[in-house]
Amino acid sequence: MRLLFTFWLSCCILGPFPAYAWWETGHQTVARIAVAHLSPEARAHAARILGVEDTPQALADALAAASTWADETKAQTQTGSWHFIDLAVQDDKTRIPLRCPDNNCAPARIRLFAAQLAARQPVDSPWSDLDALRYVVHFVADVHQPLHAVSDADLGGNCEQLDPPVEKARNLHALWDGALVDALNPDSRALATELEARIEQMPSGEQSGMAAGNQDDWVWESHELALQDIYTNLHIPTEPVLFPASCKVAPEAISSMALEIGNAYIDEMKPIVREQLIKAGLRLARLLNESL
Ligand SMILES: [Zn+2]
Repeated sequence: MRLLFTFWLSCCILGPFPAYAWWETGHQTVARIAVAHLSPEARAHAARILGVEDTPQALADALAAASTWADETKAQTQTGSWHFIDLAVQDDKTRIPLRCPDNNCAPARIRLFAAQLAARQPVDSPWSDLDALRYVVHFVADVHQPLHAVSDADLGGNCEQLDPPVEKARNLHALWDGALVDALNPDSRALATELEARIEQMPSGEQSGMAAGNQDDWVWESHELALQDIYTNLHIPTEPVLFPASCKVAPEAISSMALEIGNAYIDEMKPIVREQLIKAGLRLARLLNESL
């Protein structure tokens, strides 16, 4: 009983509710799209690492299930900073290395874990190839959530409250993590099928163009998207370059906001969310095809 009570205390009162990036739906959708674009060699290698049969369906289900492991374990492994990069509104692209001390940011971890998977002999890493694969799958999706690549002294939109909340989302970050993806379709299998149909209609040149770039390019694209479609669109004031440890010490202009998100904004953002999920899926497939 006491144990149960302690668990309840730590999960529901003391601990912050885990902020799953793209929550489950987004991560699983990206993983499912990627599997549809893997080479036979990469598919066989991924199936071996995951310990599942090498069929498109088995691998899609296994990679989708593996795609949220990094969020589920980040408190124990103290790897929360690997899921984003705090690029200030005032930064330019050359500041990416500066904002990533000791490789503790998403783009650096994508690079390092993809390199581990690409190595043909065992590498000196505390992480297994299964861990490396689960991290790459997760972080490529994370950097396509625009609020994982920006800071306006607001912990990537975690400090701006929504009033009223949108579904379960009580702040701006959660809106982009979950509510906007779920507004497309809360079922990752159905959403991936729907987005795949859009991909199939694209000329192949457009597909390969979308899959292009490296992790820094993707981060920068997300950053610019956040500035235009989130901060400017929602009239959020630009704050000085600050990285507060919590929203309690964020600037008043940010922490006192009560954003009203209407259906018009949600509808306006849907094509952007769709495109970010498609890009993340195609880019993840390209990276895995090069690494596995
Ligand atoms: Zn994450």
